[in-house]
Amino acid sequence: MRKLEIGDVTITSIIERDGPWRRPEDMFPAYDPEIGRRHLAELDPLVFDVASGRMVITYQTFVVRTPRHTILVDTCTGEDKGHPPPMDFPKQPWLDGFRAAGLRFEDIDYVFCTHLHIDHTGWNTLLRDGRWVPTFPNAKYIFHKREYAAWEEATRRGNNPHGPNVWLFNCEPVVAAGQALLVDDDFELDDTLWLTPTPGHSPCHCCVNIRSGGQRAVVVGDLMHHALQCREPDWSTIFDWDRDQAARSRRRFLGAIAGTGTVVMPVHFPHPTVGLVEADGDRFRYGFVRS
Ligand SMILES: [Zn+2]
Repeated sequence: MRKLEIGDVTITSIIERDGPWRRPEDMFPAYDPEIGRRHLAELDPLVFDVASGRMVITYQTFVVRTPRHTILVDTCTGEDKGHPPPMDFPKQPWLDGFRAAGLRFEDIDYVFCTHLHIDHTGWNTLLRDGRWVPTFPNAKYIFHKREYAAWEEATRRGNNPHGPNVWLFNCEPVVAAGQALLVDDDFELDDTLWLTPTPGHSPCHCCVNIRSGGQRAVVVGDLMHHALQCREPDWSTIFDWDRDQAARSRRRFLGAIAGTGTVVMPVHFPHPTVGLVEADGDRFRYGFVRS
């Protein structure tokens, strides 16, 4: 995405991986091919690769610079995690993007994770001398405390569907290092940044709100993975913790945001990523902001 300005705040993106990825029929258990085809024909062509029949899905980190802080929201899959294909993305694009943003690891003040999945926590930590350590030595990491507790429990019981390493490698070492802030639903960093709980995709998935100069943006994490879910808000994904709750959270959020001018930033939407939501009966339209 291009640089976005929200009052005194600037937001850019570091892309780890993008391009055609999953087929909608594999992603959405409720997918109806006829309805899907109709929607896809009307959606912005950049969200679907007709030749392969695959949705275009991006993995990215948002860099939020306020007058006081440099903040990362979600940290992709990272390096040295040993994730099996297809989640073994090369590490260099993200590192190159981080440097191209003019950043050093020491510059980051806060890391927000909308939720604690494999592709939102990866660069939280690095392997150094056989130990996982926080990548950003001066940062506080914002995790929702019940999200953290849910993945800790699932990992300890051996039933974390994303595998044990996501919590063991990406989350627990941050807490052990004393760099995590385990926060509640109503967490506000300051006047500029605060959380809104949108559970369902994960136990305590949160959106990150950004407000400055009378303008507003929201990083919506994985509240939706594809613009199809604005047309069909009830189509939850195979990756959702609680599909019914995810659909309720999505519908409530889209209804609240539609027509307000609030800029929406879904992590997995391809360039230009940023968009505005409009209501259309009991459905919604996602319009990319191209300027
Ligand atoms: Zn994700």
